[in-house]
This record gives sequence, C-alpha cells and structure tokens, in this order.
Amino acid sequence: MQTVLQGATIFDGTDNGFHTDAVMVFQDDKIVYIGSQDECDIEINDDALVYDVSGQFIIPGLIDTHVHLDLHGVPDTYQENLLDDKYRAIRAAVDMEKTAKAGFTTVRNVGSVNFIDIAVKKAVEEGLIGGPRILTSGKIICMQSSGSEYFSGLYREADGIDENRKAAREQLKEGVDFLKVMATGAIMNPGGVPGAPQLNVEEIRAVVDEGLKLGIYTAAHAHGAEGIKNAINAGVRTIEHGTLADDETLWMMKNNDVYLVSTLSSNYFMVRKENEEAIPEFMREKAEEVSQMRKNVIRKALDIGVKVIMGTDAGTPYNYHGNNSMELVRYVRENLMTTEQAIIASTKTAAEAIGIGDITGTLEAGKSADCVVLKKDPMDDVTCLLDTNNISMTFKEGKLLKCLCEWE
Ligand SMILES: [Zn+2]
Repeated sequence: MQTVLQGATIFDGTDNGFHTDAVMVFQDDKIVYIGSQDECDIEINDDALVYDVSGQFIIPGLIDTHVHLDLHGVPDTYQENLLDDKYRAIRAAVDMEKTAKAGFTTVRNVGSVNFIDIAVKKAVEEGLIGGPRILTSGKIICMQSSGSEYFSGLYREADGIDENRKAAREQLKEGVDFLKVMATGAIMNPGGVPGAPQLNVEEIRAVVDEGLKLGIYTAAHAHGAEGIKNAINAGVRTIEHGTLADDETLWMMKNNDVYLVSTLSSNYFMVRKENEEAIPEFMREKAEEVSQMRKNVIRKALDIGVKVIMGTDAGTPYNYHGNNSMELVRYVRENLMTTEQAIIASTKTAAEAIGIGDITGTLEAGKSADCVVLKKDPMDDVTCLLDTNNISMTFKEGKLLKCLCEWE
C-alpha cells in the first residue's frame, strides 16, 4: 500500500532538515521518498492513499525514552499496590493509546510491575490497541534496600554478582528489549537516598555483560555522581535522571558516549503548588531539592556536549501519559534548547540512544514511516505540541493511528 502526504512543510529531524511544499511517500511501513514534488521519481499508484496536507507541518514521530506505562500519575504511588495487575494492564493499554494520540510513536518503558509492559507491547503489536512502539525492560534490577516494597512487583532485588547475573537472565528470558538497574537510591521510595550509590560496579557489570551477549544494552537509574560513575564504568548506555552529576561525571558521560535522560517532568509536576497536598511529604521534599538541580545539570551537560535525550518519567505523580510533550516544551521554555534542538532530542538522538536509530527518529527514505502531522507550526510556538487538537494525524509504520478509547 502506498501512502502520500503532500503539500506540508516537513522537518525531517536532522540539522536544518526543512522541506517546504514537500511530498512524502510511504510504501507499506517504510518511507520511500521525501522532498520536492517536482523531483519525486516514485510512481504513485491509482490506489494510493493520498492526503492533501497543504499548510500543515510534519515532524518525525516523537519518542519518550523514559515512561512507566503501568503507573498512572496518582499522587501517592503506594496506592497503586492496592490495584491488581489485570486492571493495571487494561489501564496501561488506554494510557498507551493516549500517548500515541499525543504524537508519540515510540516509548521506552523503564520498569514495569510483573511484566505488564510485555503484555501491553504484545497487544500493540497485534493491533488490538493503537499504542506506540514499546521497548520493554521488565523489572528493575536493584540491591536489597528499604523502600522496594513501595512498588510491589516493580523491582527484582539482587545482591552480589551471581544474583545480578541471574536477575538479568530472568528479564532476558521474558523477552525484554533492554535491562534497567538502580545505580543509586530513588526519590519515590520512602527509604531511597537519591545521592547514595546502590549496586556496585561489579554487580552492574554482571547485568551489562549478560545483556550484551544478546546485543542488549543496560540503562541505569542514577542521581548521585558516584553511582553514575559506577554505572558508566560498568558499561551502561543511558543514565536516567543524572541529578547530582558533577563536571567530572558529565565529562565521563561525554567521553564514553553515554546519554543523559532528562526527566524534568517528574519533579515539575510534583512540586507544583496545586499538587502539594496530595504528595507524600518524603517525596515532595526530595523532589523540591532535585528540581532546580536537574535543570542546572542539563544546562551543564549540554554545554559540555553530553547527548541529552527526552524522557518524562510519565506515570509518576501528576505526570500523565499523553502529556509527554511537556518535557520538550520545558527545554524551550527554560532556554535549554531551541525548538529544533528539542525536537531532535525527542526524535533522532532519542532513537540513537535507545538502539533504534537505524529504524526511526528521522524522516528519511528507508526508515519507518513514523510521523506526526500538525495543524500549526511548532517552530513558531512549541506549545502547540501539547494540544492534541493540533495533531491531525499520527502514522506509525505507515499506518494511521486510530484509537479505541473514544467514541467517534
Ligand atoms: Zn522512572
């Protein structure tokens, strides 16, 4: 099946990659042409689906590299433990439809209760629901520590090299796309000390090595500098949060080609005045502390040349699925990036970081037909990405997204 989008201005996700009055042609799930109408050398079949999108704007399908699909943005995440997995899986499916509807054609799920991520991914791939491409990590591998019980079924506690190796193998057996470890404490666990290192280098390396046997990389949750260094020395590919990274750590990230996942949104919503009441005090205090730090770290990381990629931590308190573009908007509002850079961090660089840069992230011939058609130009006003009414169409793998979650 051929699909043709004609007449739009396209930002293809590369530096200065603008095409005006352009045409883009999909053959099944792949882009086969992008460029000017006159130079198009592809023969358009009579039965091609042709969309006139004159005056509209097309960007690559957006990518959120840090979500928790089975968390739902409730103020006190401990309450989630009272719900059963079956209900959470159905809710996650709806949340993934919302995410796709917001223009996100890929998400990386960095930790899920009892492998709900793998079930939801299967439902998307079989076409039961209209979600994004989902990369899964199963359970988060962590050391024995206070607070894991705050998220029943999310963590796989492991102490020592052998147990970490085994924990990694368990996740790989379930068919995960990448592995996730806790290199430091967390904000959302009552006993978590964000700055304190957790798994040591040898333990993390055992996980990394098991993954690499199958070509699978490891992501590390890490706030404090020492834990980040442990994770880098052990060979992880992405650092989630990076809140307390000092200059030395950031240089280490740059020199080892390790990506930093920003997750500004998780604190942003927690510390908003109107949300204060419902957030547990231990969580709020820690969130407030790190909110400003995280912005500063991202600014410094960008100055040094660390590759910062878009990740929201969607599912954490008030950080709702479908509102993912807020992270990207904040890059621009906080003067961390231009709109063009913010979109690249949420498409091209994000795809490279999570290992699918040869499949998606830019609009180029040969890549997956993942794109968002917008009524307004995000380069003029990036906040238009927050308005789903502004999104006229989302394509993933050449297919137009249709949601089940609404009556048409
Ligand atoms: Zn997270």
